[in-house]
Amino acid sequence: MIEIGSGPEAIDLGAERLKLGKLVAFPTETVYGLGADALNADAVARVFELKGRPASNPLIVHVPDIDMAQRVVGEWSHDAQRAAEKLWPGPVTLVLPKSSCVPGIVCAQGDTVAVRCPEHPCALALIEAFGSPIVGPSANPSGRISPTTPEHVVDGFTTRPHNTDLEIDPEIDLLVIDGGHCRSGLESTVVDLTGERAKVLRVGVVGAETISQALGHDVDCITQSDSKSSPESDIARSPGHVGAHYQPTKPTRLVQSGQLKQAKKQTVLISWSIDTHPDAGGLIQLPRDIEGFGAGLYRSMHEADKLIGDSIWIEIPNHEDISAEHRPIYETVMERLGRATHA
Ligand code: AMP
Ligand code: MG
Repeated sequence: MIEIGSGPEAIDLGAERLKLGKLVAFPTETVYGLGADALNADAVARVFELKGRPASNPLIVHVPDIDMAQRVVGEWSHDAQRAAEKLWPGPVTLVLPKSSCVPGIVCAQGDTVAVRCPEHPCALALIEAFGSPIVGPSANPSGRISPTTPEHVVDGFTTRPHNTDLEIDPEIDLLVIDGGHCRSGLESTVVDLTGERAKVLRVGVVGAETISQALGHDVDCITQSDSKSSPESDIARSPGHVGAHYQPTKPTRLVQSGQLKQAKKQTVLISWSIDTHPDAGGLIQLPRDIEGFGAGLYRSMHEADKLIGDSIWIEIPNHEDISAEHRPIYETVMERLGRATHA
């Protein structure tokens, strides 16, 4: 059964469930996470099972403060301290040497752990009420579109898209804590602090420049072309960051604004520039500004997947007049769109 709850009662119920090794989906400022006790290998195994996530793709451990982060990290470096002080709470995940208390399954049997302090009050309240760190990968079947509302979470685990072989678990036992629509709507920036130089493994709305300012030195950044076909070393360092991801079930492609007028009725459009479909088909509108576009992108893909039609075209976001401050959002949106589209 899936239950949606909200307010302090849902937080208390969520903490009780986590103590029993059960799963709780919770809102963060990025996307909804699928929470479980990070120090309980059986509970973590349920997360992998429900998501259908390969064991080789490690999970992010969520903490409410630096103190709890230090419990899951083996060696808390100066860089970790600087990054955490300046960038937490927020959508930045730090990869650090793992402490022995973290079960191997969390870290794909590697010797590093990814840790993040989210900003959303429900996420913080849940971890604090539980009193121990929780894992929180996106609360959706692996490879599909990340959820940005409680309804997306429920839909993801209860509806079997017609053209996939995704198994639905009839015994599902999940509480979803309702915290409304996620503010940023895009997954966190992942920064590896274990190498000689800090390296951004996954781009996010907090850009490399901000991270570099926080650390007081340069950071390397996985490039966009790298991230679709990563070199071996980067696959090893960021195992989950390879191949197709964030995909609607309908074949999806990116188009230029000028191509929209060629759309046939059966093509669902996601657009920031038009307000009617040229052939009376389905249309989902997104804001013109990149912040609004990024925040609404996953919701628009969920909605487009449900409309009548046999394919989806997404209009490349407006990239005129993007300020330096908003550039990382644009880059993140383009990286996620690259993975959302079918080869
Ligand atoms: P998700 O929570 O599903 O959005 O994905 C978590 C991301 O963090 C994936 O890209 C993982 O590969 C990455 N990640 C988690 N743990 C580690 C780790 N120990 N080392 C490198 N990347 C990690
Ligand atoms: Mg995910």
